[in-house]
Amino acid sequence: MFETTLRYNSLNNKHAVEGEYPRYDSLIIDGKMLAYSKKALPQFIQNLNQERSLDYYVEPIISDFRSGDDFRYPDGTIRGWYDSYVNELGDPLKQALFDFDNVNPRHLDEEIIRGISRSVVLYQENFVPNQLKEESGKYEEVDPDEVMPKAVIPWHHRINEKSDLGPNRTILDTTKAEAMLSLKPCIHTTKSFIRDRSHRTSLVELVKDYDVDECFLLIEELGKHNTYESTYKDVIDLVYDISEAGVKPHFYYGDYFSNLLSYFGLGGTTYGVMYGEEYTETTEYTDQGGMLLRYYVDQIKDFLKVPAAVELMKRTDSAMCKCDICQRHFDDWDDTVAHQESDDPLMNHLQKHYIERRWRHARQVEIKSFETIISKLESDRQEYVYPYTNARQISPNKDFDYLPRWINAVKERSELVN
Ligand SMILES: [Zn+2]
Repeated sequence: MFETTLRYNSLNNKHAVEGEYPRYDSLIIDGKMLAYSKKALPQFIQNLNQERSLDYYVEPIISDFRSGDDFRYPDGTIRGWYDSYVNELGDPLKQALFDFDNVNPRHLDEEIIRGISRSVVLYQENFVPNQLKEESGKYEEVDPDEVMPKAVIPWHHRINEKSDLGPNRTILDTTKAEAMLSLKPCIHTTKSFIRDRSHRTSLVELVKDYDVDECFLLIEELGKHNTYESTYKDVIDLVYDISEAGVKPHFYYGDYFSNLLSYFGLGGTTYGVMYGEEYTETTEYTDQGGMLLRYYVDQIKDFLKVPAAVELMKRTDSAMCKCDICQRHFDDWDDTVAHQESDDPLMNHLQKHYIERRWRHARQVEIKSFETIISKLESDRQEYVYPYTNARQISPNKDFDYLPRWINAVKERSELVN
């Protein structure tokens, strides 16, 4: 099985997350959004759980405080959702954010690191069951085991250099001692760190030492438009080595390339309801409101603005997407553009279409051979590259070169395919 994990980090995406629940295996819920939406979200988890057994995780969030000031208002106080989260976790996190600009374990006393690590565990294991108990009163029994996360994700500190390994070990030691649930640690690192073979080995040793079955893997800035073929090969080597060591890695953010990694030992991938395929640390506050309407074009495994997607599909005479959502809502490609001007919630359809596509990608890599998947990518590339470069509505700054980079990287490592 290739686990699909949907990232739930905006309350605006409620309809897509709720409506598409048969089309993902698990949810990862933003820890600060949970703290903010403390009545509705636990209830939502319980309701979904009654319809099907819901596996979910809670994002530990603490790494957001590592640098920058995007989590503070200009007067220095902590912003809305972050503030709710910090209040739930209490001290020593709260005090540390009061005393210092940032919470970077490289510069913190070990006792503070241990204290914050423990509050992260307590929050993930107890917050949802406690909220539900409080809300239901004594009339309704809440079985905490039913509504607990699938595993605890320990606070992850980005590994830029080897000296970042120590703080991660302190966090993992403490979390392991504190947690009742199993751990699914997130190995959070950078493209430049994994370039070095001995660095990759140190990451493999880190996960191996904690006797876990699974881990998450977060390699920052692995966007398809700015990642070299050589980096993709480093990623393949790392995924392969972790999985050979007996731990199944899952991507913490992943585009279609992560599906190809299933042939090298990746156990699953994570994405948002729209975008959320890659992660870059933010250090300055930007208004995240007003999400752009983009259509995920499956043949190119990327998002395009709706009119650009329509132009590309018409130039290539492509049939309307076969997913349930597109079949139900769009008569033809022009109809998607027409929805932009109507009251029909186009954003909802676009999000659900994306969730459906990514669900199918996971099922494809489970049943199809490596060779079949690669030859399909190659034929899509041949068919779409010319219309793509000539489409007037696709920005000339955008290119389709990521597809050959993926294909070359996985082919050069094909001796590792298991
Ligand atoms: Zn569709």
